[in-house]
Amino acid sequence: MKHEEVPARSGLLDAVRRVATDIAAAHADDVDAKARFPIETLAALREQGVLSASVPREFGGAGASLLEQAQACAVLAQSCGSSAMVLAMHYSQLACITRHGADSGFFRDWMRDTVRRQDLLASMTSENGTFGDTRSSICAVRVDGDRFALEKDATTGSYCAHADAILVTCRRDEQAAAGDQVLVMVRRQDCTLEQTTSWDTLGMRGTCSPGFKLAAGGDARQILPGSFADSSAQSMVPTSHILWAALWWGIAAGAVQRAAKFVRGQARQRPGSVPPTAQALAHLQVKLQAMKQNWVSAARDFDAAAEDREDLMGMGWALRLNNLKIASSEAAPQIVHGALQVVGIGGYKNDSPFSLGRHYRDALSGSLMISNERIAAKNASMLLVYKDAI
Ligand SMILES: Cc1cc2nc3c(=O)[nH]c(=O)nc-3n(C[C@H](O)[C@H](O)[C@H](O)COP(=O)(O)OP(=O)(O)OC[C@H]3O[C@@H](n4cnc5c(N)ncnc54)[C@H](O)[C@@H]3O)c2cc1C
Repeated sequence: MKHEEVPARSGLLDAVRRVATDIAAAHADDVDAKARFPIETLAALREQGVLSASVPREFGGAGASLLEQAQACAVLAQSCGSSAMVLAMHYSQLACITRHGADSGFFRDWMRDTVRRQDLLASMTSENGTFGDTRSSICAVRVDGDRFALEKDATTGSYCAHADAILVTCRRDEQAAAGDQVLVMVRRQDCTLEQTTSWDTLGMRGTCSPGFKLAAGGDARQILPGSFADSSAQSMVPTSHILWAALWWGIAAGAVQRAAKFVRGQARQRPGSVPPTAQALAHLQVKLQAMKQNWVSAARDFDAAAEDREDLMGMGWALRLNNLKIASSEAAPQIVHGALQVVGIGGYKNDSPFSLGRHYRDALSGSLMISNERIAAKNASMLLVYKDAI
């Protein structure tokens, strides 16, 4: 079965494939060169209704499964890694709302409205002083009557300046411990964002992720019901790790496609012979396939167990997701590196049709996006007590 042929209940994949080939591919180099937001791609995704694809059907959405969302991110990443990362981050925020907000009238209305509006959701978990630990906050939400107020000094806020709303982690109240967090939906029109750092990075330049000081207010019902401990473990972590793995695979697959085109060109120059580079390409396909099976199986298992919230809180599942994140973020740059060895100088040049610089630089972000060492440290302590094979 080809990658694109997994049954598409929602039509999401067809829509994203059109946007990827018609729009994202054409603008990816400019987005990268100027470190600018991929506005054309996001406008096209909105037009196709892609941003609300995972909203349940009962609220007017397409009810796309996580596997479909992952495939969409993988397809888009083959054309533009930054656009795919924006879509992946948006979907992981949306998952928190669809899976934890359905008992709230405010979030039910928001879901119905977003199908029409196609809101883009950003995430603000990082904070100056928490050192990359998403599960602790310094800032706290203050509720007064039916209103909330919140300030946060975030180290990294992808596309916050372009989003319609930001999901912000913070302590439940000013007395709460650092790990007693909630998730607050901050609407763009209800906040000020003061940019505190730049975003002139090696890769993922189109995600536009500088630091921001946020000051916000709003309706207290915009605080997502329940704890962030639950929405993080049951929704944000699984969906982000699976969607990121899918898009990192897409970046690697895009690089291998360029290398394959190069090798076929070599073969055409010497009909009847197999160029030596074809063998290196064959080895890359082995790695690519293994990488893909990892996120596809995790997405399938998540879809099968999506409502089994206890299972999603288990140590075995946490370890598996952490391993998926570490393995995929390590594999992607290695595969792109292999593609570069196949193509040679044509891949190293920025102005060649086989250029692999953007793929390489984008792929390098994976291991930093929640540090692999930080995740390995969590695994290490879990493995002291977890004895089953994973
Ligand atoms: C493309 C991109 C987009 C992003 N978008 C967002 C966003 O939209 N919203 C958001 O909130 N954040 C975002 N981030 C931030 C990201 O998810 C991390 O929170 C941030 O990169 C962590 O920063 P850090 O590397 O300085 O911190 P740390 O995680 O503290 O790592 C610093 C160093 O300490 C090491 N280290 C940390 N813990 C341990 C440990 N236990 N054992 C051993 N070594 C350890 C690490 O390996 C690293 O060398 C984004 C990052 C990237 C790359």
